[in-house]
Amino acid sequence: MVEINLDHIYKRYQGNTDYSVSDFNLDIKDGEFIVFVGPSGCGKSTTLRMIAGLEDITDGDFKMEGKVMNKVAPKDRDIAMVFQNYALYPHMTVFDNMAFGLNIRKNDKADTKKRVENAAKILGLTDYLKRKPGALSGGQRQRVALGRAIVRDAKLFLLDEPLSNLDAKLRVQMRTEIAQLHQRLGRNFIYVTHDQVEAMTMADRIVIMNDGKIQQVGSPYDLYNKP
Ligand code: ADP
Ligand code: ADP
Repeated sequence: MVEINLDHIYKRYQGNTDYSVSDFNLDIKDGEFIVFVGPSGCGKSTTLRMIAGLEDITDGDFKMEGKVMNKVAPKDRDIAMVFQNYALYPHMTVFDNMAFGLNIRKNDKADTKKRVENAAKILGLTDYLKRKPGALSGGQRQRVALGRAIVRDAKLFLLDEPLSNLDAKLRVQMRTEIAQLHQRLGRNFIYVTHDQVEAMTMADRIVIMNDGKIQQVGSPYDLYNKP
């Protein structure tokens, strides 16, 4: 079953003459882990931000389960996003940071508590729920950002270079954790990175981008092992 369609998507920012994304065309199957890889400036973030609803689509359609989502507000999309800089609220506790997306949607308090505690258990954050982000390590902050996405139980997870602020050792560890999380949740993940090793170790399918266009799409095996 095709779950998500990026149907000939184009983006031209206001004031720019060139398109930042051109004819991006991709069908994503249920539960796939997709990685967008390519050099800085090739349009990875722009594509992700259009999917999240943080940027308008200039032309083409983004569909989930057949429904055109182009005009749907970000908070009404069944999508959770993890940012490179974590985007945590420094004055809120870990618990409140993780609960934030549910609270703005007026979710039932008891259910929110259950979901946050469950996510904290998965991520090893149970003992840190009362702390503020400033009192956490980089890896723990990144887990809180993941936790905030998990509690939403969204259909689609978007991760924009989530590991690039971590040191090399932690990056390898978090890669494994994110892959396990994907297995566990069984949701679609779209993961943006400029790191080919990350792409190869995590993806079901890799989308190689260059200059706003898809250059190649395939499994890690297809892209890197075949002559
Ligand atoms: P990547 O995520 O692959 O590094 P981006 O999607 O950030 O690439 O950028 C793609 C292109 O769009 C770049 O040429 C960049 O300068 C341009 N761009 C990104 N954001 C904006 C913006 N808000 N306004 C104008 N141009 C932008
Ligand atoms: P990344 O490569 O991770 O997308 P950047 O440092 O390129 O990050 O961009 C950071 C922010 O600046 C983003 O919000 C992006 O949309 C914006 N931006 C990038 N390029 C341009 C540009 N040419 N004009 C205006 N804003 C831009």
